[in-house]
Amino acid sequence: MPAPALTRLAERHRERTAGLGDPAIPDVEVVLVGAGFGGIGAGVELGRAGFDDYVVIEKHEDLGGTWHINTYPGVAVDIPSIYYSFSYLKPKVWSQMFAPGAEVKAYARQVATHFGVDRHMVFGTTITETVWDEPSQLWHTTTADGITITSRYFVPAVGGIEVPKMPDIDGFDDYTGKIVHTSRWDHDFDYTGKQIGVIGTGATALQAIPELAKNAAHLTVFQRTPIWVAPKPNFRIPAGVKTALDRLPGVRPAVRGLVSAGIDAALGGVALAYGRRPEPIDGVTRLLRGWTGVVVKDPEVAAKLTPQYTFGCKRPSVSNAYLQAFNRDNVTLTTDSITKVTPTGIVTADGTEYELDVIVCATGFKIMERGATPPFPVIGRDGLDLGEWWHENRFQAYQGVSIPRFPNLFFVTGPYAFAAGSYIAMIECTTRHIVRALAEAKRRGATAVEIKQEPHDRYWHKVLDAHDKALWLSGACDDSNTYYINYHGDGAVARPTTHLDMWWGNKHFPLNDYRYEARPARAAMTGDPR
Ligand code: NAP
Repeated sequence: MPAPALTRLAERHRERTAGLGDPAIPDVEVVLVGAGFGGIGAGVELGRAGFDDYVVIEKHEDLGGTWHINTYPGVAVDIPSIYYSFSYLKPKVWSQMFAPGAEVKAYARQVATHFGVDRHMVFGTTITETVWDEPSQLWHTTTADGITITSRYFVPAVGGIEVPKMPDIDGFDDYTGKIVHTSRWDHDFDYTGKQIGVIGTGATALQAIPELAKNAAHLTVFQRTPIWVAPKPNFRIPAGVKTALDRLPGVRPAVRGLVSAGIDAALGGVALAYGRRPEPIDGVTRLLRGWTGVVVKDPEVAAKLTPQYTFGCKRPSVSNAYLQAFNRDNVTLTTDSITKVTPTGIVTADGTEYELDVIVCATGFKIMERGATPPFPVIGRDGLDLGEWWHENRFQAYQGVSIPRFPNLFFVTGPYAFAAGSYIAMIECTTRHIVRALAEAKRRGATAVEIKQEPHDRYWHKVLDAHDKALWLSGACDDSNTYYINYHGDGAVARPTTHLDMWWGNKHFPLNDYRYEARPARAAMTGDPR
């Protein structure tokens, strides 16, 4: 059943296509896809700039995006919450330095309600395709309910970790026990006293494993590539600190600025400078190697948990419980590769068969992959399919936001958008970029705004050059199997710049980097945009 707000838009659309209205006037000015922080942040910026005619279409039944859908045990943010929040609204509930997932989702609701973005949301609606219609200069978007709506602008805010990746292992379909992906956690299933196998040792597994181990009869961790783990400086925020942050003028922005600069230097800065100055990262790598050896009691297990690649090649993780979990009697680490899944468990290369009641797939997401970014076809000028074009020509977008030949289309988290650190800080930057372009189009009376080829290419070459000098494409990451590098061999998931550059670039890009085009209101009508 389509949501009522969408039905109203669909009715408007039917009237126009039946000749009762002007088909060159959109049903709604902006379609935003995704009610996570990206869609919410974009809604805030649109509202501030006076764009009130927008709809946020969300496939799930509630807002929050990643933080709505990821509810596995132990889910929490691994960036300090003062920075994992919008600069313009502090979280009401913020119990710890690193907030648990439920608090982050509550914050998403707080922002959406505070700025009235929630009133624009339509839930339970999956987009199946969007197509640019040149005569009317509108996007025609269809949903799984068979509804079509038109909009002047189309903004995918689908987030980076949207499409779960299930392991491609022989026999998976024949397994008769419980299979669960961490991003689709089944809360009705009782995991207590079960033989659990966890595939994967990324940032998610690192949070889930210690929690699952508490109640499992036995937990076997199937590790392909180990992950560097640093201690997590987590603590409950003392009441006095909260009061100071909330009441003393300037304290919150100052602390936020310091945290942001620290993360920028630690995550981005040193990795970007790796080609010239490898010492800081190599030093941290040595420290963490020592720490792993101290925390994990069995030296053989400690050695298996210690990566051979350099710290920072994969997303660095923090935990005070992950490595410690391997000291438990009911936790086993196996590093033999999985050869097949049987109806009752997993078999590894050494021939061992692990009988399992549950297989937990902490196997991550399809990031910058064909068919997943975004997870529906986007057809631009001359019938160009964005996903296929990226597949053939490599992922690229001006400042991670816009692509030539896709007018009026703006990504919140496109290729090379995200400078390592807080996703929410990135969302603030890219959504301001988007609304700045929209506001300029409005000022010029334009019906289409499109990034020019030259500035787009200039940005792309800038990020490719920077990646060549940074850590991720260097030999230091050879054994890391990092998802930072996609199947093209590109680091499109990350903008290889500092946060300062991301903020400045999105705020001050020359408005003439875009081409603005105005069409008369009543244009030729087309039933099917293709
Ligand atoms: P991930 O980092 O991609 O890790 C997936 C894990 O599964 C890797 O260890 C991978 O091994 C393993 N794997 C995948 N397929 C496998 C197979 N067929 N056989 C064996 N192992 C397999 O995914 P994630 O841990 O879900 O993290 C995804 C994203 O979420 C990351 O960006 C992460 O930082 C983010 N995250 C953020 C937070 C936060 O607080 N902000 C919290 C959790 C997660 P290989 O390494 O060998 O590929």
